[in-house]
Amino acid sequence: MKRVRFRDSAGNVRGGRWTTVDGEDVVTAAAGPYGRIAFGDETYSPDEVDILAPCEPTKIVCIGLNYEDHAAETGKDVPDRPMLFLKPPNTVATHGQRVTVPADKERIDFEAELAVVIGEQCRNVSASGAEDVIAGYTCMNDLSNRDDQRVEQNWVRGKAFDDAAPIGPLLATPEHLKDDATIESRVNGDTRQSSSIDNLIFSIPELIEEITAYMTLEPGDVISTGTPAGVGPLEDGDEVEIEIEGIGTLRHTVHVP
Ligand code: MG
Repeated sequence: MKRVRFRDSAGNVRGGRWTTVDGEDVVTAAAGPYGRIAFGDETYSPDEVDILAPCEPTKIVCIGLNYEDHAAETGKDVPDRPMLFLKPPNTVATHGQRVTVPADKERIDFEAELAVVIGEQCRNVSASGAEDVIAGYTCMNDLSNRDDQRVEQNWVRGKAFDDAAPIGPLLATPEHLKDDATIESRVNGDTRQSSSIDNLIFSIPELIEEITAYMTLEPGDVISTGTPAGVGPLEDGDEVEIEIEGIGTLRHTVHVP
């Protein structure tokens, strides 16, 4: 199943089921863990509604340098344990949004990432039990302000500015993710990143074990699993697409004030 959160024309936030990946209709359905209001018998065209982020994270835990080719392009060694940083809730942006990025920067980069959405409160989860806490998967753009990231250790300006985490449009339940699903980014239709999630250095179960050894994850929290090679700068007016095979395509535009 693929779930979508949306706001209808009357302002109601609803949780529904997406009938196809690039689907025509959003069919309201039982709320499920991420539907906030739900349902009724109505059907909607996506054009009639505002697509919201598919979950409401209390935090997004991001993984740095989790593809060898991206580590190489940044001139860094592959880490011996997952490299973690956080994006707080102010970073969440939605499918279809015009995302405003910090002004006067040399480089605001896109980073296509597979995002794991957590389904239940959890702590100290073993890799072997990780499947049980995964609600599903979605697409994320780990927008990165390189100017400040380069010169600060905690990456607050670099990674945690408003709208730095476009995410969505769908929450796809785990059976939709193939082990070798392709991950791609496109800018104005040109393919810029193309890889497969089987190139992840640290697997999703390993990431969940490592993260929950240190912190409690809540329902709707997100783990963004890192980006492959090919990251690059964005300019005002660019349209970015992040596509993960079987999961969906996230699309947003960029505004530089
Ligand atoms: Mg990243």
